[in-house]
Amino acid sequence: MHLSLRHYYHGMLCYSSVATYILYTTPLHSSVLMPMGVTTDVSSSYIMETVQVSHRLVHLDLKGAPPRMSYYEQMFPIISSFGATGLLVEYEDMFPYQDCLAHLRAPRAYSPEDIAKLRTLATTHNLTFIPLVQTFGHFEFVLKHDEHRSIREIEHYPNALCPTHPDSFPLVTKLITQVIELHPNDKYLHIGADEVWHLGKCPRCHNQMETNKNTPADFFLEWVFKVAWWVKTQHPHLTLIMWDDMIRNASLDTLKESSIGDVVEPMVWQYQSTKFDLPQDLFIKYSAVFKGIWGASAFKGSSGSTQFLPPIQHHINNNLNWISILSEHKSQINNFRGICLTGWQRYDHYAVLCELLPVALPCLCLCLRVMSKGSFTEDDHDYISQQLGFSHRINVMPFPRPQIVDSSATFPGHKVYVGVQMWSNFVCKYQAISNSEAMLGWFSDYLRSRNFTNPVQVENILTQVIEVEENMKDLRTHLIPWLLEVLYEDTVEEWVGSFIDPLLSKLKSVVDECRKQILIGGRVRDYTSIN
Ligand SMILES: [Zn+2]
Repeated sequence: MHLSLRHYYHGMLCYSSVATYILYTTPLHSSVLMPMGVTTDVSSSYIMETVQVSHRLVHLDLKGAPPRMSYYEQMFPIISSFGATGLLVEYEDMFPYQDCLAHLRAPRAYSPEDIAKLRTLATTHNLTFIPLVQTFGHFEFVLKHDEHRSIREIEHYPNALCPTHPDSFPLVTKLITQVIELHPNDKYLHIGADEVWHLGKCPRCHNQMETNKNTPADFFLEWVFKVAWWVKTQHPHLTLIMWDDMIRNASLDTLKESSIGDVVEPMVWQYQSTKFDLPQDLFIKYSAVFKGIWGASAFKGSSGSTQFLPPIQHHINNNLNWISILSEHKSQINNFRGICLTGWQRYDHYAVLCELLPVALPCLCLCLRVMSKGSFTEDDHDYISQQLGFSHRINVMPFPRPQIVDSSATFPGHKVYVGVQMWSNFVCKYQAISNSEAMLGWFSDYLRSRNFTNPVQVENILTQVIEVEENMKDLRTHLIPWLLEVLYEDTVEEWVGSFIDPLLSKLKSVVDECRKQILIGGRVRDYTSIN
């Protein structure tokens, strides 16, 4: 039976009676106050000059849930219209590596033609294209392969490569070469280098550090300089960028002595919605060493490794914090290149998926508005909501749940946005049943194991569990084709297999147990004949 989105929405309204969220029910252009915690205006002339003229990159993290090409066609005009100036594309295993690196490709990796199309689309919408290739830490997509196990820094862990292994440098330069070959006219390359948790751990690296009296920062910088110097020598037209977390606490002398400032520019990432955790002298130090400084905020994928829905207010506040930080340190920052709005798909190669891109598109557009204007007002909120087709203001506080789901939007992928919100409501309902008095007090593991349950309570539980199970099954049927409009089959299989099917399996076991206990009919403890 076909069930339209609108009908489904009304069905949801009947279910979701706990709708207490002012923003959902706030019509556009009303005069209500902004949600708590959102600063309304921190603009200054400096910010207007700095933020508006610098880059606003959108991070496309493809290590999970890579969109179909058709989704980029719909998405790029929108993000461009809201102020995006470029893309930071983290291909990971979605890049079409060739020849001796062909095994690094995911089964559904983009083709060289896809990459060419992606770059053309970006150019059409005035988006600067910056590919990202990891060269040190978060090298899991390479190190998980048996062929490259020998270059792990710790043989048992696939996170970081060993910089002193003779095979490491040839491999990294091959990766970079193949990426650059498919980006012939692009002016930037991001070489990653964040979260190198295993540094100087293998006997060879440890000995080299001891012999050279290297600190971990020296040792880290030596490898990054070696890689970046090689790239700059081969491709002098490229500006290189790296994540800054591994050098954030390095001294000014260490940074200067490494010559790192000659070859690369740091991207300072901070995703908090409150005070940033950065050294006080960071911008003075970086300005004395590097030719340019970048920042990175987040619009998704930074608030929990199993997050379904982006906490939008948190992300707006994170971006507003960046505006405040830039304003506060304006006298210390030379040559601010721009901000990258990161949208992490998973915490690392091995983790489950975070918020899907279409679910976070409203959040991205709101955050782009913040970064384009240097402030965030009710008018901005109304404007973005209207442009994305919402009849009400975008709900920036999706938790706690359940909440009424606003299905009025028309932006690309809006059906996935609605479907995942419904899913999140059902998860909440399931959790409420699991923690209910009836379940905990009359249907405990112990009582069930002794077949000592009261059918009055069990019938009540069964009714509720069946309702949630049917809602979830119904949603699964509709959500899969909605997901397939945006994502490839393997991503949809992963998302459904990670989140929906395990819960349906749990519900089925509860239903089966309820039916068994009802058949037993409240007999004496340890009644066994039903088995
Ligand atoms: Zn090593």
